[in-house]
Amino acid sequence: MLKSVPSKAASIDSLRRRYVLLFVSYITSFIMLILGFKHLFSENYLLQAILFGCSFAFLANIAWFHASQQLDRACVIETILVGLFVLGLVYQGGHENTALYWVFPFPAIIFGLLGSKLGIQINALLMAILSVLLYQPEWIEAQYKSAEITRFMASMATVIAVGWINEHFRERSHHAMALLQRSKETQANTDALTHLANRRFVDEVLPQHFAMQPEHFFPLSVIIADLDHFKHINDSFGHDQGDLVLQQIASLFRQKLRTEDIACRYGGEEFLLLLPKTTQHDAARVADKIRAGIAQQRLLAEHKDLVITCSFGVAVAQDESEFLQAIKLADQRLYISKSNGRNQVN
Ligand code: GH3
Ligand code: MG
Ligand code: MG
Repeated sequence: MLKSVPSKAASIDSLRRRYVLLFVSYITSFIMLILGFKHLFSENYLLQAILFGCSFAFLANIAWFHASQQLDRACVIETILVGLFVLGLVYQGGHENTALYWVFPFPAIIFGLLGSKLGIQINALLMAILSVLLYQPEWIEAQYKSAEITRFMASMATVIAVGWINEHFRERSHHAMALLQRSKETQANTDALTHLANRRFVDEVLPQHFAMQPEHFFPLSVIIADLDHFKHINDSFGHDQGDLVLQQIASLFRQKLRTEDIACRYGGEEFLLLLPKTTQHDAARVADKIRAGIAQQRLLAEHKDLVITCSFGVAVAQDESEFLQAIKLADQRLYISKSNGRNQVN
């Protein structure tokens, strides 16, 4: 029905990935630039190309991210750059064959950018390529000692395993918290008796949807429905039967309305029906259909002769600024329906 408003947990998580992306880009490209300048006058052209090339590629990615705000894509590009940098450096060997030391931060960075599932796959792929390179010394320029390679592989495997455990369980606990938060929010916005949206939803949540996607709502028809002589039903048949009537009315609204319409329990026996992209004329017809449906239906099975009716007031809001005004106007028109004899639409 309504596209959900992004939850706080989701926006905090995308902030976390944003920080990882920005930190990795700025810090690593800064370090690479410094090391690049250090080797500027050495004869080591491949190392210079790797350091300057990766540094500029990281900065270009971040410039593109600032312009496009496409976090997922920027993280994937960042991971590819990280992978190329690691492989290039291990191939070349870095300054005095110290490349392997520089590889250790990258598994954690890959988990931070991609999450546990994709992160473990990419890290495993990186490990596989690294082990091929390291155990085929004739394929690479660098010269590592064989004891050094074994220790490096064992440490890398440990770093990746611990990184995966941390990220996997962080995601699980984050997911559980987000679910709990969402179910609390749903509860807070739902009327317990009728399971319709409640007044808090109308006052606090709906304005956020209006602001996010006004084109999906306006012109918005507002119908206020108030059961006629409901106090009499309570007095005659008891409060429980009154509750049952309210539940039946709610399910009748659900049947008669479209999926994009919103039915709320606005007060005790008063309901607000919101019909997006609907004119006054069409909304009045819908209200009259519902009115006739209620009057026809025998809502209390034990009291077959009891006719329950409902009165309606209809108004339209052309944009968000007219919403409260439209509710007021619909309420005035409901009052006219009541004074003109009830069981009618105005
Ligand atoms: P009118 O036709 O003018 O609207 O008369 P009315 O009796 O419907 O209106 P009134 O405002 O006098 O009474 C509303 C009644 O609705 C009084 C209240 O006890 C009852 N009511 C409000 N909330 C609930 C509820 O949750 N369950 C039940 N059973 N009754 C409720
Ligand atoms: Mg009433
Ligand atoms: Mg009332």
